[in-house]
Amino acid sequence: MNPIRTAIVGVGKIATDQHIPALRANPAFELTATASRKGGVEGVPNFPILEELLASDVAFDAVAICTPPQVHYQIARLALEHGKHVLLEKPPCMTTAQLDELVRVGRAAGVTLFQTWHSQHAAGVETARQWLSSRALRKAHVTWKEDVRRWHPGQTWIWQAGGFGVFDPGINAISILSRILPQAFFVTTAELSVPSNCDSPIAAEVVFATDGGVAITADFDFRQTGPQTWDIDIETDAGSLKLSMGGSELAIDGKPAAVPDNGGEYPDLYRRFAELVAQSASEVDSRPFQLVADAFLVGR
Ligand code: NAP
Repeated sequence: MNPIRTAIVGVGKIATDQHIPALRANPAFELTATASRKGGVEGVPNFPILEELLASDVAFDAVAICTPPQVHYQIARLALEHGKHVLLEKPPCMTTAQLDELVRVGRAAGVTLFQTWHSQHAAGVETARQWLSSRALRKAHVTWKEDVRRWHPGQTWIWQAGGFGVFDPGINAISILSRILPQAFFVTTAELSVPSNCDSPIAAEVVFATDGGVAITADFDFRQTGPQTWDIDIETDAGSLKLSMGGSELAIDGKPAAVPDNGGEYPDLYRRFAELVAQSASEVDSRPFQLVADAFLVGR
């Protein structure tokens, strides 16, 4: 099969750190072009914006959208309408209605829309999901605390409306929770700390609950210096589970548990993207996005 000729839109931190190496390491793909105003990749044709790439004579099949969420919708819609398969970075869009519309446009175009949650591909997640599937949840706590200066240097978009603030990383924890917990859960309260010079929160305390009344608490903070914490602690009627390092490490009843080697989050994302394109299928999981939107809705 011919490789999927793929263009990356928005050559910034995540494109450089993860997408380009993962894409180039996977023979199912070929990095054909980039669309980036300041970025680009040596030896690969670059166009400032997707419109100019589409107007060029460079032929391609797919785009990986690695821009900030404020512009995801417009770029994804344009690509889908031009018959390109789309791999969309998290958070998927600025508003939930935009994601619904992308699903509709993708279906009408008959192409693949892969709306990604990279943290769901962390090594420990699938084992945790299976372990939890036969147990009753007693309580859960998320501690997702990182240093914004270290992980998001110069990213002014993250503080602007639609940039999600601390929910930019926090949505990763929620994407894991919604993948591994067998039952639905909903936001009950959210305390959002928004600096006076920002549109979006620097920290948030969110309480979720299942229909059965089990509480899931979450602390998100962008002001963590020193060791960084991306942990989920879960207690059940038959033991406890801890996912740490963003879901890549798993402990059960306090002891390290074996997790499968899936090659890493982004290599696994591109493996899945190739599979979806081959099957003419799409994958969209709007739940984590709805939960973050709900935290903003009820947030104080
Ligand atoms: P970034 O370093 O700011 O890169 C995004 C790139 O998008 C910019 O370099 C810019 O390239 C382009 N862009 C297009 N329109 C833009 C606009 N209106 N404002 C700002 N940049 C614009 O951001 P990132 O960290 O790579 O994050 C991009 C997406 O990936 C986000 O949705 C984020 O949540 C997700 N993500 C990030 C990480 C991470 O660790 N950083 C991890 C996983 C997922 P040009 O100026 O060259 O056009």
